[in-house]
Amino acid sequence: MILYGDYHTHTPYSHGTGTILENAMMAKQKGLKEIAITDHGFAHLACGIKYKDVEKMREEIEVAKQKTGINILLGVEANLISMDGSIDLTKEQIKLFDIILMGYHYSAKPKTMGDFFSLMLGNITPIIKDSKAQIQKNTEAIMRAIDKYPIDILTHMGYGMRVDFLQIARHAKMAGTYVELNGKRINFSEDVFVQMAKEGVAFVVNSDAHRSENVGECNRAMNLILKNNIDINLIGNVDKLLMLKRKR
Ligand SMILES: [Zn+2]
Ligand SMILES: [Zn+2]
Repeated sequence: MILYGDYHTHTPYSHGTGTILENAMMAKQKGLKEIAITDHGFAHLACGIKYKDVEKMREEIEVAKQKTGINILLGVEANLISMDGSIDLTKEQIKLFDIILMGYHYSAKPKTMGDFFSLMLGNITPIIKDSKAQIQKNTEAIMRAIDKYPIDILTHMGYGMRVDFLQIARHAKMAGTYVELNGKRINFSEDVFVQMAKEGVAFVVNSDAHRSENVGECNRAMNLILKNNIDINLIGNVDKLLMLKRKR
């Protein structure tokens, strides 16, 4: 069971510490063939990618590819910014990237005042954040984002907001979006994971490294796969390179 690629790594273009080259060098050392550089989307307060840096990132990627022989995708970890499923990328900006990840981060700027209340406050206010209504609203917001945008990978589902994991995973499966098994945080239970696998949901194992040393570090996810005897065909980047399924 070999990890071929790590499709979620950060650099100083958001708030990672390893540069693009350092992440690629670490990937090579660990025997990976491919990585994606996926810094936070434009709406992430303080540490989102700056629009003007995208070209520079491309140039750095070219240099790092030449030096390491590792294939490097330029990606982004976009933010969910509204209850109607908007993310912080326009259709034009999506074209700048090779791979689109999307997750919820409470540090992203909501789209409207209403979203500030329902998306941000609703998910930190005691009682409300655990209410059925809030969970359903969150679930629908993510499913709408999957419908509206060509999201390749849904990152750390359930982090920062409660959701109906199975409902989202089924929706992601239909759309061709991978569900991430994040190296740092997996918020769903083992039972839910096994159920998703039974239903044929496709997964990707990613480190979400914010330091170069952590590129390719996904032990918890790998152990979970082994322990539960999950069909390797469902894991997009184990024993194979990830094939993106969403149409642009
Ligand atoms: Zn994230
Ligand atoms: Zn991340």
